[in-house]
Amino acid sequence: MFVVMARAATESEILGVKSHILSEGMTPYDHAGQERVVIAVVGEVGPRKQVLMSRLAALPGVETITPISRPFKLTSREFHPEDTVIRVLDAVVGDGGLTVMAGPCSVESRAQLMETVDAVAAAGATIIRGGAFKPRTSPYAFQGLGVEALRYLAEARERTGLPTITEVMEPNQVDIVAEYVDILQIGTRNMQNYSLLNAAGRVARPVMLKRGFGSTVEEFLMAAEYIVAAGNPNVILCERGIRTFETYTRNTLDLSAVPLLHHLTHLPVVVDPSHATGKRWLVKPLAIGGVAVGADGVMVEVHPTPEEALSDAEQQLNPAQFADLMAALVPVHEHVRSLHGDPLVTGAALGIGAGGLSKH
Ligand code: PEP
Ligand code: MN
Repeated sequence: MFVVMARAATESEILGVKSHILSEGMTPYDHAGQERVVIAVVGEVGPRKQVLMSRLAALPGVETITPISRPFKLTSREFHPEDTVIRVLDAVVGDGGLTVMAGPCSVESRAQLMETVDAVAAAGATIIRGGAFKPRTSPYAFQGLGVEALRYLAEARERTGLPTITEVMEPNQVDIVAEYVDILQIGTRNMQNYSLLNAAGRVARPVMLKRGFGSTVEEFLMAAEYIVAAGNPNVILCERGIRTFETYTRNTLDLSAVPLLHHLTHLPVVVDPSHATGKRWLVKPLAIGGVAVGADGVMVEVHPTPEEALSDAEQQLNPAQFADLMAALVPVHEHVRSLHGDPLVTGAALGIGAGGLSKH
């Protein structure tokens, strides 16, 4: 449930509500919106729900109590109607601008990374990607350069001025990755690795969470909820394709998830057409598609010589193909931006008390 405070509620009334929630064995999370403070009550309520609701309603400064049927709370639009905007160095994600994360699937050498980052930065990328710890289907495939790659990523950040993102696969890698890299990525295979989600929730770095290839949108949001509930509000969601009966593409990019997520959550949403399709020539049309349906950005794999890549050779773009993609993407984004006020296009930003919310 959410406790909606009156517009004129004082600091001490807000504190009073929060300490009452704590005394009931629940956890309060407050969000100061443009007009009022909303406090989410999180924990096992069970049969006490009605009693708790009426006790909270009687406290000074409380306007209403809104029961919430959705399982995700802190990530929901009802709790936090405004879009979450994430700032990392000079990059801003979720403010209506176009975020482009680009770089190799795996960091293979210093020279390979520097050549790639120079090219993608010149073409307009806003964030550098590069895998250091690689989740490979085969234990015999290239597993990544590990900490050596993290050092190259830190150098790439110095060189370009752009923030960096890399995948973290285990809770015990979180601190070292956070030391060298600006954004932590949790991959599709780990979307429901709850100890990793909790560890990422405790670090002072934004986290990009990729959708599990077999997960529903609700499961995706529940995974994001773990990170936010553990204390990290800066989560970027990434739709990277789900497994369907189609085998021609590596996965099926679920474009409907983009406006749906914008409707359900305040968190920024990006699409990854590289892992979604597994095919170089499909990256451009689906990146354009993602931006057209309102994604806040894209993640694209780029390699100086994709055919020779140690991982995902079939889906990486070369620098010229990436520059060509950027030239197509920017005008599409400019056009779609003009539609952003239209809730029927990008998903509605539904405020508390706006009513009319249905599960589907
Ligand atoms: C990646 O981005 O490097 C990656 C492995 O992606 P995913 O987790 O979506 O497969
Ligand atoms: Mn890859």
